[in-house]
Parts: sequence; C-alpha cells; structure tokens
Amino acid sequence: MGFLSRTKEKEEEAIEPAPCPHTALVQRWDLPEDMGNKEKATYVCDTCGARFNYERAREFMERPSLPIS
Ligand SMILES: [Zn+2]
Repeated sequence: MGFLSRTKEKEEEAIEPAPCPHTALVQRWDLPEDMGNKEKATYVCDTCGARFNYERAREFMERPSLPIS
C-alpha cells in the first residue's frame, strides 16, 4: 500500500510564535485614587501578559496598523 508517505508533518517543526503586537492592552491601577487616570495606569497585554507604562502602551495603541518590517 502506498499511502504512508504523507508530507504534512514538516509544517509542525517550523512554527514560531508570532511577535505579539500588544494591541489587546488592559488598563490596571494599583491605587484606587489613580483609577481613570490613563497616564497612571499599568497596561497589561491580554495576549502575552507583558506590562507597559502609559507612554509605551500608547505607542502600541496609536499605531496598530503600521506594517512591521
Ligand atoms: Zn503582547
């Protein structure tokens, strides 16, 4: 029988995790009095769990569709 030589398997080895675009950021505040102040929030990426301050988070939120080169 000749159907043992499937070639689909080689795809599995080449899979690398795509770099996270950090566009699913969730705002968190440590102090209740800071709540609502986006500049004092900690931004946690809902996809990968990375944390950013406001300035870094703003970069990801303001240019979500730039081509990555
Ligand atoms: Zn991320």
